[in-house]
Amino acid sequence: MSNEYDVVVIGSGPAGYVAAIRCAQLGFKTACIEKWLNKEDKTVYGGTCLNVGCIPSKALLDSSHKFVEAQEHFSAHGISVGKVAIDVPAMIARKDKVVDQLTSGIKGLFTANKVEGIEGTGKVVGANKVTVTSKDGSQQELTAKHIVIAAGSVPIDIPPTPIDHETIVDSTGALEFQEVPKRLGVIGAGVIGLELGSVWARLGSQVTVLEALDDFLPVVDRQIAKESMKILSKQGLDIKMGSRVTGSKLSKGAKKTVTVEYTDKDGEQTETFDKLIVAVGRRPFTESLLDASVGVELDERGFIKVDEQCATNIPSIFAAGDVVRGPMLAHKGMEEGVMVAERLAGKKTQVNYDLVPSVIYTHPEIAWIGKNEEELKEAGVDYNVGLFPFVANGRALAANDVDGMVKLLADAKTDRILGCHIVGASAADLLQQIVIAMEFSASAEDIGLTMFSHPALSEAVHEAALAANGHAIHIGNRKRRK
Ligand code: FAD
Ligand code: AMP
Repeated sequence: MSNEYDVVVIGSGPAGYVAAIRCAQLGFKTACIEKWLNKEDKTVYGGTCLNVGCIPSKALLDSSHKFVEAQEHFSAHGISVGKVAIDVPAMIARKDKVVDQLTSGIKGLFTANKVEGIEGTGKVVGANKVTVTSKDGSQQELTAKHIVIAAGSVPIDIPPTPIDHETIVDSTGALEFQEVPKRLGVIGAGVIGLELGSVWARLGSQVTVLEALDDFLPVVDRQIAKESMKILSKQGLDIKMGSRVTGSKLSKGAKKTVTVEYTDKDGEQTETFDKLIVAVGRRPFTESLLDASVGVELDERGFIKVDEQCATNIPSIFAAGDVVRGPMLAHKGMEEGVMVAERLAGKKTQVNYDLVPSVIYTHPEIAWIGKNEEELKEAGVDYNVGLFPFVANGRALAANDVDGMVKLLADAKTDRILGCHIVGASAADLLQQIVIAMEFSASAEDIGLTMFSHPALSEAVHEAALAANGHAIHIGNRKRRK
């Protein structure tokens, strides 16, 4: 096959594979380069999200949730199952199977859409030139009218707790434990720390989360963050805020433990764990990716600098996903991948960066979109608040899953929905209804006038929208203004 392409995409995570597929659909001759090797040393597509991110973490969250259901909640339904046990290697193997199925699926999608998958490490060596180095060291040069960089991100390592891949692990290692650690430490009470901490806490680990910041989930609406903290603490997560990790010591001997040093308001503290997960964030990955002569600009934090359309400073080169500014989320990268492809085809597609939904897949899930109360207060916006707790929702009660609430914020003058914040079962799916509504500039009244199936969890969204204007039916109205 000729080495000349319309578009060469580097990286096949959500940003890259979506960009490549959309480019091919639009008639471009497209190649997508991927260097990821799986446990069998085979190249796999799908990036962080499919291999060690969104999908495997959700597979373990779902398995561990079922364990808790069987152990703690079946009896409320009159079901007795005797002693419930977890076979960790079987759980991990199921997760691997899910990953395999999805990564093979990307390969299938490439074939169906005529994207050429190229195995190896890509490097941008010119405005229209990319070299690919295969795992056997052989090299080829590709020319491309356009290059799309979607090289993603990797976990941040901090000097106090160097990863040894055995006792001290990053998020990838935390998806591979072969037994339930008795005492598990997690550094960072962010999305990844809370999700992975939850998996192992549900299976019996005694989990301590050490977080340097004083405020729990600072980007989340305070009321929802407070409620979430209460629920997660009740589940056994010991979340220690204001605790900055400063060092660690591994014990000697075959089965190591790690003693973590941290400082909190009372001074220096130590705590010993059987495993430690370092979940302090991710950084863009640009190593060996860009030849300096090309002149692609990075920002001060190492992200590839792009404009609102994901164009870099070099006209033929675009970048999307975790390697550029904005939240490190798979769906944000996917939308950017589509935008880049469509822009190349002359369309005016634009990602709406004001409406990127966020979800933490604990149980219950925590999900939000738009502005929170604190942001509206700070901006001096007059708003109404609609609240509805799941304990008043028939479907939640029937399922015995009543923790949490829906909070909807609407402009006091125009009634336009400004934000929605949910902690509750299926919050991600419930939130999506409001994401769509906000995309169409809907008002709280629009949602109030929409018919919702009964009984459904989504009725809590309906009622929160009604409550914003003091019209809730299934709860007393306490119309609240700023
Ligand atoms: P990546 O998925 O990181 O893919 C980049 C790809 O590029 C990789 O396959 C890499 O091998 C390849 N690559 C890099 N350099 C080169 C090169 N030079 N040559 C060839 N190939 C190269 N996000 C969500 O939205 N929802 C979630 O529930 C969620 N859960 C997560 C859970 C965990 C544990 C983690 C770690 C992340 C999670 N994320 C989640 C984040 C999500 O995985 C990332 O935002 C997403 O994968 C970013 O997509 P991307 O395409 O930009 O990069
Ligand atoms: P996120 O960026 O959402 O993945 O969250 C990572 C969290 O790790 C942030 O809330 C940081 O405050 C926290 N963090 C970073 N370094 C440390 C540290 N040394 N000790 C404790 N928490 C930390």
